[in-house]
Amino acid sequence: MSKGSREARFIVHPPAAVAHIREAARVTGEILAELTRQIQPGMTTLLLDQLAGQLIRRCGGESAFFNYHGFPGQICISVNDEVVHGIGRADRVLMAGDLVGLDVGVRLKGAVGDTATTVCVGGRPAPVAARLMEATRRSLDAGIAAARGGDDLSVIGKAIETVIKAAGFSVVRDFVGHGCGRELHEPPEVPNFTTTPRGILLRPGMVLAIEPMVNAGGWRVTVDKHDGWTVRTADGSLSTHYEHMVLITQGEAEVLTCPKTPSE
Ligand code: MG
Repeated sequence: MSKGSREARFIVHPPAAVAHIREAARVTGEILAELTRQIQPGMTTLLLDQLAGQLIRRCGGESAFFNYHGFPGQICISVNDEVVHGIGRADRVLMAGDLVGLDVGVRLKGAVGDTATTVCVGGRPAPVAARLMEATRRSLDAGIAAARGGDDLSVIGKAIETVIKAAGFSVVRDFVGHGCGRELHEPPEVPNFTTTPRGILLRPGMVLAIEPMVNAGGWRVTVDKHDGWTVRTADGSLSTHYEHMVLITQGEAEVLTCPKTPSE
């Protein structure tokens, strides 16, 4: 889930808090990975949401999104032209080729994990969808690589936007990444586009959710008037969303939401 406005400054988490945040983020990444394994054509998005709720509870956590400002789902499920904040529905049946953004937030032992990915149902994306997914993943990697202690926060958005512009796609501007750790949304905001530096330097102990939302067409979006949540591209083009939580260090940021590989 991504954030709109408001700005304090930033939070540096002490090591004891980082340990809890690391655990919540790891669990959140594992739940997201399990959902990407289970998604298949013919499933409703409501079933996917219920499955996510079961996985979250089985880990001893609770959804960080459910009831957040009244959000009715366990996770956000955003299909095709839906950018973020989609809600699982009994009448939305997933079909092969659908692009599905899955955004999972888990509260566990006083900490919060938040991570998202986009999957193509059935695993065979159309050419433009494949290019959009690849570019957005690459922009997230670039944003994470830029997030080094001592640099200005704005290097992250600049790195993301540079990749997306070169690929010929558009970065959503109405929603941004955020600090995360003890609460779902903490300062600072983390834009996915170039901004004037605000004098916030990246410091070891900061935890940021970096989450580019990228449209195949223009950057403008609309919010569903009926459910008050679902964000769609204004021009009906496809959209993708990837998100990792990272811990800022003196050097390369540590990605906290990657599930363990079998070799680890
Ligand atoms: Mg988020």
